[in-house]
Amino acid sequence: MLSYIVMLVKLIKDTHKLDLKELRQLYNHIRSILPPAVVYQQKPAKCGCKRCKEGGKGHGSYWYAYFTYQNKTHCIYVGKEKREIDPLKELEKKKIRKRRLRDNGRI
Ligand SMILES: [Zn+2]
Repeated sequence: MLSYIVMLVKLIKDTHKLDLKELRQLYNHIRSILPPAVVYQQKPAKCGCKRCKEGGKGHGSYWYAYFTYQNKTHCIYVGKEKREIDPLKELEKKKIRKRRLRDNGRI
């Protein structure tokens, strides 16, 4: 444990030796391995019903989670109640659902 902390302190100190280009590379690397930061937002949902089509205020409101991963912004429906999500797990679930719909010929 101690050697790990010593290594971490050295690693942090060593970042001061890097030039701007190297720092940018390190920053991009760290961003690529960190899970994305999630922003939660509550908003009404619009469906295809007459009231929504005519500019009504929609249904809900419902919680959505937004995050950026691999240069793409994602929106995940959370539901009526706010809960913390694991962005990468949710993304994987979304992919599986989409694949299933495609395999069933629905999209
Ligand atoms: Zn509606």
